[in-house]
Amino acid sequence: MDDRFEKLLEAAPDGILEVDQKGRILLVNNSGERLFGYGREELLGMSVDDLVPVRLRTRHAAHRENFAAAPASRPMGQSMRLRALRKDGVEIPVQISISPLPDDGELHTVAIIRDVSEAEAMAEALKESAAQTRQLFELNPVPCCVYETGTMRFLDVNAEAINTYGYSREEFLSLSVRDLRCPEAAPDWESEDGLRCHRKKNGDRIEVEAQRHPMHYQGKEAHLVVLRDITERKRFEETLEEARSRAESASRAKSEFLASMSHELRSPLHTIIGFSELLAEGLEGPLNEKQKRFVQHIQKDSQHLLTLINDILDLSKIEAGRLEIASEVSSLSGLCEEAVSHVAHQAEQKNIEIRTNVPRNLEAWADRTRVLQVLLNLLSNAIKFTPAGGRILIEGSRAGAQLALSVSDSGIGVAAQHHESIFDVFYQVSATTKGVREGTGLGLAICRRLIEHMGGRIWVESELGRGSKFTFTMPPAGGEAPLPARERPVLLVLEDDRAAQELLREYLEAEGYDLVFVESIRETLVKALEVRPDLVMLDLLLPGESGLEALKSLKNLRETREIPVAVVSVVADDTALKMGAAAYVTKPVAREKLLAMVRRLAPKVRV
Ligand code: ADP
Repeated sequence: MDDRFEKLLEAAPDGILEVDQKGRILLVNNSGERLFGYGREELLGMSVDDLVPVRLRTRHAAHRENFAAAPASRPMGQSMRLRALRKDGVEIPVQISISPLPDDGELHTVAIIRDVSEAEAMAEALKESAAQTRQLFELNPVPCCVYETGTMRFLDVNAEAINTYGYSREEFLSLSVRDLRCPEAAPDWESEDGLRCHRKKNGDRIEVEAQRHPMHYQGKEAHLVVLRDITERKRFEETLEEARSRAESASRAKSEFLASMSHELRSPLHTIIGFSELLAEGLEGPLNEKQKRFVQHIQKDSQHLLTLINDILDLSKIEAGRLEIASEVSSLSGLCEEAVSHVAHQAEQKNIEIRTNVPRNLEAWADRTRVLQVLLNLLSNAIKFTPAGGRILIEGSRAGAQLALSVSDSGIGVAAQHHESIFDVFYQVSATTKGVREGTGLGLAICRRLIEHMGGRIWVESELGRGSKFTFTMPPAGGEAPLPARERPVLLVLEDDRAAQELLREYLEAEGYDLVFVESIRETLVKALEVRPDLVMLDLLLPGESGLEALKSLKNLRETREIPVAVVSVVADDTALKMGAAAYVTKPVAREKLLAMVRRLAPKVRV
């Protein structure tokens, strides 16, 4: 054979065989030897049928005869995907193309054989990965579907979609996305953030949130839709809304009732007070000693009743959120002088000395009337609970960023276990120095609420028998707007991983923050309403829920809208910021970065 053609034949990457009419091998190249695993001398003269797996041989012989009857070239890759049997017994997938080769009137055949094991393995792998992708889709715990972009007909749905909507897969595939929409909603109603109202097969409505991603599916332009059933969340929000409006109207009703009741009570009381005064002054004729004592009892008790009514009314106004604070620049020394002048007579009667030490330059940003009310309350308590001949001192000072006023007395004192409770409504510890309870038990409760409304704090330092010191703070004039009066800001953290909780506690508690952990969206909302945190931190990746829903609800609710929300997540995605989050950090969070963020969003009140 021509040298050049021989080289060409041997260099060919595919196996090449020449076979005579009986199927005997006449020629084979290098690649052919390698492919079948036989030596050339073994192959030459061997029947080509022996290179076909035993079970396929009869069919193969028939093929050969057909070919002989109508010889025509058949290129590779067309229907001729076959199995070849190697010498070692291994079957390999091959592609074969054959063409007739006339030789001296006898029909010979040239076969070119290609080993396609690799291509087949690759195709297998592709098929497997497609099956896996399908499985991921199918097993996804949220409802997912794929629809054709133009017709909006469903091309595929997963098990959860079937479960949620109640249609079978076949039913789904005959529907379009439009068929799911609630008929009563506007035909193309969809809010900006993908909220939709859908209807299940049984007619129930569900609220869903849809995320769409364009894709190709079965060679068509399509969209993958990931749905989230937010019916429960919506219902929760509605329940809250309802509860709130009910509470609001109840509280309005209560305030109205109190206002009218106190009016009704006060009018006859004024009459009682007025007439007993007339009697006491003897204008209608002198009273004997006994009668005078009786009238004094009437006067004293009706005064007490009047104070009680006024206090209750005050408190109910505060509780109903109807307290109006008109803050202005207020000189503390001026206020103290005014307060002292009001109680001077009372103090004199018990021979109690009142001294003041309030620097002239202390100016608070506060409501004068309310500060005066607090001061008078503290002073009259001090007089009430200090034995005759005692001392009272009023002091003013700066306390960090705040201003402080304190009223100290040399009276009977308050035991440590009552230091907090005396600020509760109707809580009274001690008899007064006269041995009778005179007050209403509401004074300090009102003081605390007033002070906190103005952005300050109030507390007592005292020991039984060693006098008491009541101190309250106010923001200074010209300072910043009053901050919430919490010394340790409270962070509400949605994090279900105990180890991560521990770590955050470690980082933040030492820095002066209190942490409240919650582990579900529902709990987040409930706690947010309950504790009104200074900052909410949300972990976005919770099993079965997305922290984004918590964010959405927090931003929807009137009470929680203003609370800054920081989002912590492993995935970098700024959706949260668009939805109103104040900051965004990715996990793992470095300590310094976290602290900087928390300090910025939940600044501490310096006390
Ligand atoms: P009240 O009308 O009884 O004074 P407050 O709320 O003003 O109500 O005070 C609650 C209780 O706190 C008082 O009943 C008393 O037991 C205690 N208390 C208040 N001020 C003093 C004080 N300066 N010294 C001792 N005890 C006090």
